[in-house]
Amino acid sequence: MKAKMDGILDRDEARYTITNIQRFATHDGPGIRTVVFFKGCRLHCPWCANPETWKPEPELFHDDSLCTGCGRCQKACPAKAIAISAGKAVISRELCTGCGSCVTACLNKAMEITGQVMTVREILAEVDKDRDYYQVSRGGVTLSGGEVFQQDPVPLLQALKARGYHTAVETEGAYGLEKLQQALPWIDLVYHDVKHCDGKKLKQFTGGDLEEIEEHLRYLKTTDVPVVIRVPVIPGFNQGDLEDIRFYVRHLGFEQMQLLPFHPMGKGKWHKLDRRYPYEQTPMMDKEILADFADEGTRIGGQ
Ligand code: SF4
Ligand code: SF4
Repeated sequence: MKAKMDGILDRDEARYTITNIQRFATHDGPGIRTVVFFKGCRLHCPWCANPETWKPEPELFHDDSLCTGCGRCQKACPAKAIAISAGKAVISRELCTGCGSCVTACLNKAMEITGQVMTVREILAEVDKDRDYYQVSRGGVTLSGGEVFQQDPVPLLQALKARGYHTAVETEGAYGLEKLQQALPWIDLVYHDVKHCDGKKLKQFTGGDLEEIEEHLRYLKTTDVPVVIRVPVIPGFNQGDLEDIRFYVRHLGFEQMQLLPFHPMGKGKWHKLDRRYPYEQTPMMDKEILADFADEGTRIGGQ
């Protein structure tokens, strides 16, 4: 009994770097859900809506529109990572350690640390707030990112299943197969990205390795865990190749597919990280233009 209790205590102290815990989500699995966003991803998709999840460690957001150039952050920074130029703070991303001193110093809330280390116990405290909603809506908890398998999701998944919650995981397949195999007993539903079926294009745009992704998909096919394939539809990348992608997905044996129309809603976060957003001039895609692709197994948009 004591050994079991010790195991649970150890599990509940496992630590994760999380960028956000979003309550009342309805597009990332059945029912009402809480989505936990993991930090860290090997891919760098130029359309990414969550660029703050790329690096595994906490990072600094700087909102230029709130900055008056007062210089308080510069004085507070122990790493001398801040200069004032043209009336605005300019951050050296190489020197910044993410210590957060500038966040405290800034009276205008122009600085913010994105990414927080949380234990399983702390994550559960947030997730448990909506346990009644999960029950009435047949919802649960979805782990997303970033790439969930860049960290070890097993302790958190075990804790969620111990509470009887439905668990879903969103992944892009850029991780080791072993991690998926270890976690699968505690996963009820997998959303797996297939961004392209052309390995060269996938590598060029995202850094992803199609062979590795395919290995995970083939493994998933040997299990009884339900899988929904997700395809972000991106102008100039895969919008013209959707029939080929659907053929590829079905050839691998998957029927359920969601086409997710491009949206530029992550743009502000690219700016706050001082990164150039490649789709600055690209408008949100009207999902109606994908209507012809809808069929029994293909939905337009998430669920
Ligand atoms: S303290 Fe805030 S407002 Fe002042 S320069 Fe720094 S970021 Fe800008
Ligand atoms: S987070 Fe710390 S190191 Fe980075 S700019 Fe702010 S004060 Fe400097």
